[in-house]
Amino acid sequence: MALGSAIEWTESTWNPVTGCDKMGPGCRHCYAERMAERLQAMGQPNYRNGFKLTLQPRALDLPLRWKKPQTIFVNSMSDLFHEDVPLEFIQRVFGVMRDAHWHRFQVLTKRAGRLAAHDRQFDWAPNIWMGVSVETATYTRRIDDLRGVGAAVKFLSLEPLLGPLPNLDLRGIDWVIVGGESGPKARPMDPVWVTDIRDQCIRAGVPFFFKQWGGRNKKKAGRLLEGQTWSQMPAVSAEKRPRDRGDGLEVPSHARAVRGVSAY
Ligand code: SF4
Repeated sequence: MALGSAIEWTESTWNPVTGCDKMGPGCRHCYAERMAERLQAMGQPNYRNGFKLTLQPRALDLPLRWKKPQTIFVNSMSDLFHEDVPLEFIQRVFGVMRDAHWHRFQVLTKRAGRLAAHDRQFDWAPNIWMGVSVETATYTRRIDDLRGVGAAVKFLSLEPLLGPLPNLDLRGIDWVIVGGESGPKARPMDPVWVTDIRDQCIRAGVPFFFKQWGGRNKKKAGRLLEGQTWSQMPAVSAEKRPRDRGDGLEVPSHARAVRGVSAY
């Protein structure tokens, strides 16, 4: 849980839960696992259990103490909808996000089934953006689960992208992020997969953010796609409210190209 983040599409991270369990090919080289082990070795008290799922109730009120409005990635070191996180605890996290209305919260999960199953039990404040991770076409069901939930802004994190996603159903989706895997054992990403997703986003009028090529040296590989930086963000109108698009069928026409550093 920290102010400031190196993640290209957010500003800060907040971890009311730490640790997780792997559940698919996208988890194989989990960054959070590597980082948790490092923090455990450094004696960081929140990581005394390493990567074992651990609730961090003392971290719950942190965003309320951060006075400067910012975009906060929730649980960069875990998955809020992990089956061992009690529903009541998830609801407390939603309560903090509602109360800290001056921030924007980005929640990302691979456990889209649990998210969808309890959707009506969450307090979807307008400042909560909800996303699912999809690494290959085997997991596009997560997008259907996301489409039905009550979040005002719904986004896809296609990272680490491990295969082509030629037939994305982008109805009701407000933002798409694509990224390649980074780290010592990074699996390669075919540029054709990326340009195809970008073109699907353009056709559907959905903002597209290309985060990185990844690889062993992600800084060197950079994030230029056909000579251009893609940092589009969803345009959030004041009128937009949770469940405005509960049927998930309306495609927003809000693509806004922002070159270079994200601005919103
Ligand atoms: S769901 Fe996310 S945090 Fe959990 S193991 Fe997979 S990649 Fe890591």
